[in-house]
Amino acid sequence: MQEDSYRHKGMRQHLVQVLKDKGITDEAVLNAIGTVPRHVFLDSSFVEFAYQDKAFPIGSGQTISQPFTVATQSQLLCVTRGMKVLEIGTGSGYQACVLAQMGARVFTIERQRNLYMKTKPFLAEFPYNIRTFLGDGNKGLPTYAPFDRIIITAGAPEVPQSLIEQLKPGGIMVIPLNHDEDETTQHMLRLTKQTDGSLSREEFGDCKFVPMLKAIGRD
Ligand code: SAH
Repeated sequence: MQEDSYRHKGMRQHLVQVLKDKGITDEAVLNAIGTVPRHVFLDSSFVEFAYQDKAFPIGSGQTISQPFTVATQSQLLCVTRGMKVLEIGTGSGYQACVLAQMGARVFTIERQRNLYMKTKPFLAEFPYNIRTFLGDGNKGLPTYAPFDRIIITAGAPEVPQSLIEQLKPGGIMVIPLNHDEDETTQHMLRLTKQTDGSLSREEFGDCKFVPMLKAIGRD
């Protein structure tokens, strides 16, 4: 793994300030972003880009989400230590590390085999409680359910029914749901499962994610 120098730490603290200025207030989220070395998720030649508030290509046509997006989703999720969190869309593994740094026990699913093969051993180098799975996130992980929290990090055409079933009563799901008329942009939703099984729904503005696809792929 690439080294984490004082220079990197300084750049990270700057990024934390940028996120505060953009309205992120959850101290646990800010602390996690200030701790997880985002530059090691990027090729070493792109280190200058690692602490800018921008998404970045990670190969296989996928991106590491923009830090503001990671912070927003993590904040909406209201994670506390020890919670069991399911993430759909492992990608680079950065979001999983941020949640694990916040004390979550993370289960993360990726549908692209090549990304999964790359990210799984990479995440094993961190001292975090993260388990990686290859599969279709629409199906979730019934064997490990129920989860306190579910985070979807790809643009979803619908709320997958299996994932609702795998959420604990009182649990929260954060999901970027496609706009009806446009499959390339989403609105960020927070769904809370009530004790009677019904869902309450809050909306938090527009966002842009790569699409959530069905079945396992090599694309
Ligand atoms: N959370 C990632 C960003 C992910 S980008 C990070 O922190 O870097 C979205 C990811 O979702 C991509 O890697 C994509 O391959 C994956 N994905 C898309 N559809 C999926 C599905 N049905 N199941 C699991 N992963 C999926």
